[in-house]
Amino acid sequence: MFLTADPEEILAGKITDVYFERTLKIMKAKNINPVVKAEFIAKNLPKDWSWAVLTGIQEAMELMARLKIKVRAMKEGSVFYPYEPVMEIEGLYQDFCVYETALLGLICQASGVATQAARMKKLVGDRLLMSFGARRMHPILAPMIERNAYVGGCDGVAVVKSGEVIGEDPMGTMPHSLILCMGSTVEAIKAYDEILDPKLKRVALIDTFQDEKFEVLNVAQVMGDKLYAVRFDTPGSRRGNFFRILEEARWELELRGLGHVKFFVSGGIHEEDIPVLNPVVHGYGIGTSISNAPVVDFAMDIIEIEGKPFAKRGKWSGSKRVLACDRCGTRNILPNTKVEAGICPCGGAFIDLLVPILDNGKALIKTETPALIRYSVLKQVKDLVL
Ligand SMILES: [Zn+2]
Repeated sequence: MFLTADPEEILAGKITDVYFERTLKIMKAKNINPVVKAEFIAKNLPKDWSWAVLTGIQEAMELMARLKIKVRAMKEGSVFYPYEPVMEIEGLYQDFCVYETALLGLICQASGVATQAARMKKLVGDRLLMSFGARRMHPILAPMIERNAYVGGCDGVAVVKSGEVIGEDPMGTMPHSLILCMGSTVEAIKAYDEILDPKLKRVALIDTFQDEKFEVLNVAQVMGDKLYAVRFDTPGSRRGNFFRILEEARWELELRGLGHVKFFVSGGIHEEDIPVLNPVVHGYGIGTSISNAPVVDFAMDIIEIEGKPFAKRGKWSGSKRVLACDRCGTRNILPNTKVEAGICPCGGAFIDLLVPILDNGKALIKTETPALIRYSVLKQVKDLVL
């Protein structure tokens, strides 16, 4: 059997740490069931991240819509900073006690993937960024990972099912297996051109048998104008100075009037490689760096009980508003009891980022398409510093 939970088991509260089940048992026996407000917040972000992108809220709504709770949250795809609550839920504690584990799981990983993709997209700029990392994760997670990679900033995803989820055609070139089975890089790209839909761009993989420079020239000379790009997946053991390999191949193509051929690279590309490779690269296939992105360590903290601010040590009690200036972007956290948001010193107006999204099963916001969320993410992170 597959070692995965069924969605019905998640909805039934079976994906819970057992201590919540025990808590529920005690509270039922003692007839304790206060109205509780709890917030989802990250005090720190992974690595040296100063900001992150919130995703997973839309998916979490699948679960939250079946609970007797009210929810305020930032919009799917919102940029947030440490110490800003991104979501607040309110209800009788017994009604949502066992769902904490699942709710955190739905936003922690999704936000990590989206943030990593957003960082990569900032680094690659207008170059193509493709999500290639489904194979590094459990297949049941591929659509979740690639959808969040896409809304974070990837231009496309590799897996067929992920393409359906985001409403875009999946992207890909050719695997080494095609070339090995056909015995020739040139024969493989010729067959690709002969068999596949003309609307697919002709991209040859060129690191299989020979030095990249010679394989590039071989395929470019045979395919001519029909060749859109070549993909360098050069193994680490052969890579040496990857930039120099690409630069040399570019030189040889230009010299022969084949400069139209674009360069894609893949295989273990990390954030720090991108600025180095950008001058000679037109597209990136990023695998593990995105699919295995660090998770955002959100915690769910009780901040109010029966309408009274109440929180554990180290946590700020009380329901909060998170404000952002619509002109300069300045952020501000206020008690939710404070009605006046005030005016930013720059003269701009403060906008509430936590908005009501659910009221006892009733959705209070419209679901946005992945493409629209991605557009909003790209706009928000455009001027942020990495
Ligand atoms: Zn301002």
